[in-house]
Amino acid sequence: MADKITLGSNGSLNVPNHPVIPFIEGDGIGPDIWSASVRVFDAAVEKAYGGERKIEWKEVLAGQKAFDANGEWMPQETMDAFREYLISIKGPLTTPVGGGIRSLNVMLRQTLDLYTCLRPVKHFEGVPSPMWHPENVDMVIFRENTEDIYAGIEYMHGSEEVDELKTLLIEKFGVKSIRFPDTVSLGIKPVSKEGSERLIRSAIQYAIDHKKPSVTLVHKGNIMKFTEGAFKQYGYELAEREFADQVYTWNQWTATKKENGEDVANEEMKVAAMGGRVIIKDSIADNFLQQALLAPQDYSVIATLNLNGDYVSDALAAQVGGIGIAPGANINFQTGNAIFEATHGTAPRFANTDTMNPSSVILSGTMMFDYMGWNEVSDLIKNAVSKTIKAKTVTIDFHKLMKDATLCKTSEFANQLIKNL
Ligand code: NAD
Repeated sequence: MADKITLGSNGSLNVPNHPVIPFIEGDGIGPDIWSASVRVFDAAVEKAYGGERKIEWKEVLAGQKAFDANGEWMPQETMDAFREYLISIKGPLTTPVGGGIRSLNVMLRQTLDLYTCLRPVKHFEGVPSPMWHPENVDMVIFRENTEDIYAGIEYMHGSEEVDELKTLLIEKFGVKSIRFPDTVSLGIKPVSKEGSERLIRSAIQYAIDHKKPSVTLVHKGNIMKFTEGAFKQYGYELAEREFADQVYTWNQWTATKKENGEDVANEEMKVAAMGGRVIIKDSIADNFLQQALLAPQDYSVIATLNLNGDYVSDALAAQVGGIGIAPGANINFQTGNAIFEATHGTAPRFANTDTMNPSSVILSGTMMFDYMGWNEVSDLIKNAVSKTIKAKTVTIDFHKLMKDATLCKTSEFANQLIKNL
């Protein structure tokens, strides 16, 4: 019998054998890649559990499809289903132009308080990459999803709000550095202690649970001291306070070494990590983007604020094959609520062409199965993706970049995956 996934009192998920999972197929190329993906999901579950477990998919509407059906971009029933069934999966959605909604994705993350945008970045052998050694890239990004400039507190110059804010800043706070006060627009960047801590806590817990060597706090604290700088400080303090026996922070490490009159070497930090403690370190965002190209092997779990996370996620995705294959999830680890999603957009020019790469949705599905504890399904699918790409059976995005590859349509690529499960 079909049933709901719920959160147990101990904070872990109760997943029945026949869970109901809402899905949004998405706009543009969404229907093509969703119909390919769902066949792979069902075949992998069948293969892993021989009929004992099965997903009951429940379609919910959002985006253009919902607007065309009933004039609403994000119907209330859809929001209710996301809450009621806890775990959902979605394809890309058209961003409405005009009409008050800045982005459906941002709205979903804010309304459901899905405070982590989780993006694993790992290379599949054979996937074309601009790196010499893409196999060294193995990171998991925890991007804060609800604060920062994405909170939408922004006013256009000439508006009453800007005039009032300017008066407050200049006359009351003595601000002298607003360069062109007559034409300035203003945006506000809220970053809270609670918001930062819950994200960083989830990142450290993830690193411990998955035996990852380090968590790097990525920030621009050198410039924005009370928002980005505070994020770093909250992170270190939280690590020392809540994970004392499981981590070494950079500060703790250097303090011990200095006490003993020894040098502090990065290499030794790695040894500490191998000894079972997660290393907590930090990096300024611009330097991090450089290091991620030059020494990706030194980074594992990344915890960062919303805007940095946006840049970092796409830059790292490009290192291992681009957005056609990058999966993602938006998660509130406290309520269990999670939406797994393709990270690319609707690529409207290619709608109904059956040509695009369904891997982003398929790999988001593997994250979903891992989250549900159905790891056998996730492993089967990841191995099949790996095997299929290694055999150079690929969709057009990879075909253009590979020598002697076989070009597949979206549906044919799914057939190959199912064969390779
Ligand atoms: P896009 O990601 O849709 O497409 C950019 C290009 O990337 C495409 O032209 C195509 O060449 C390539 N591409 C995208 N997905 C691919 C796939 N699965 N396989 C192979 N190649 C792929 O970005 P855009 O054109 O800037 O945005 C189009 C629409 O999508 C807009 O309405 C935008 O707001 C929306 N969007 C939605 C999401 C989301 O729902 N998560 C994310 C980004 C953009």
